[in-house]
Amino acid sequence: MTTTIANVRVILTQPGSAGLAIVKVETSEPGLYGLGCATFTQRLHAVAAAVERHVGPLVLGRDVARIEDTWQQAMVNGYWRNGPVLNNAISGVDQALWDIKGKQAGMPVHDLLGGRCREAAQVYRHADGATPAEVTEKVLAHAAQGIRFVRVQQRLYGGSSSLPPAPPGAMPGAYYDPDAYRRETLALLEHVRAEVGPDLHLLHDVHERLAPSDAVQFARDLEPVGLYFLEDLLAPEDLEWLERVRAVSTTPLALGELFNHPSEWRTVAERRWVDFLRMHVSQMGGITPARKAADLAHTYGLRTAWHGPPDTSPVGHAANLQLDLWSPAFGVQEWYGPSELDHAMFPGLPEVRDGYLHPSGGPGLGIDIDETLAAQHPVRDDVVGWTQARLPDGSPVRP
Ligand code: MG
Repeated sequence: MTTTIANVRVILTQPGSAGLAIVKVETSEPGLYGLGCATFTQRLHAVAAAVERHVGPLVLGRDVARIEDTWQQAMVNGYWRNGPVLNNAISGVDQALWDIKGKQAGMPVHDLLGGRCREAAQVYRHADGATPAEVTEKVLAHAAQGIRFVRVQQRLYGGSSSLPPAPPGAMPGAYYDPDAYRRETLALLEHVRAEVGPDLHLLHDVHERLAPSDAVQFARDLEPVGLYFLEDLLAPEDLEWLERVRAVSTTPLALGELFNHPSEWRTVAERRWVDFLRMHVSQMGGITPARKAADLAHTYGLRTAWHGPPDTSPVGHAANLQLDLWSPAFGVQEWYGPSELDHAMFPGLPEVRDGYLHPSGGPGLGIDIDETLAAQHPVRDDVVGWTQARLPDGSPVRP
């Protein structure tokens, strides 16, 4: 007998810094359900409405086996397609259907994709601080735990110790100085490299905060540091500048967390403008498009480094890991370091041991949710501040 989609629900919860959206797809088979990540943390309620009012009603009663068919229909059913809200809503259902298929087969998702190429996924952790000495201390603390890849930042993205004065009446906002950022970050990375030696892999995230011509110079300036990769050097709006970056620098590049549309990752892959594709899997629409992108990466000699910040839900992290274990193109996985509450709320959450992320071993995505505990931690609907970015002269700029 065909197993069908009986109910589609959204669970909103906030166990840590970021609000999370999880989709639960219940089936006609009692007790059989799947979970998917639909977390677009800055617009959670828009995603919830898209799931509950649009994507959910569309897929109700459909055969749970038809993941590809369901994905294709969900993407064009509203005629206007893609975008972070719709893609995340579709991802919630898509990942849940992969989870269900794995549970039916008694296999983890990586077995459904073709079986694993590795037992566990190497991860990179974050080190951040106010001074080079403080950052170095954190890098070494990670290394002492067996971590071999560390993303090095000072005051997160572009925060410098002081700012030139803005004109009177300038708007409030998240100010940063791109010139001081470049200067201080180069000094930081040189310091850390000198302190930790050549073996540790160092990464850095520009977060698209430089004017394109400054970005070209920055990639060049960082060459002697020997980064594993430089992350999001340019915004999606400025991708053509990558050609110029490639012409003058060998610094490896990783990019893609803001991508919405397949043409974006196809273009950078075909032109070999980057070395690592690092899309946000729920933002691109789930496992169904992500596995195709991983194959695209492999075809063009690129690797994957799926986005893995705290605003990817634990369910999304479990999905990332399934892709990592399977794909021959896997490079490294960003890992956020979950809290005890995260582990309690999401039984089966993957765990890092000696620098490698291990799956729970359960079927499907291998992760569950304690809904009672989730309900005790409702989302906090704050207006987002860090994206209200401004340059020293007071003008608004992309975050
Ligand atoms: Mg990033």
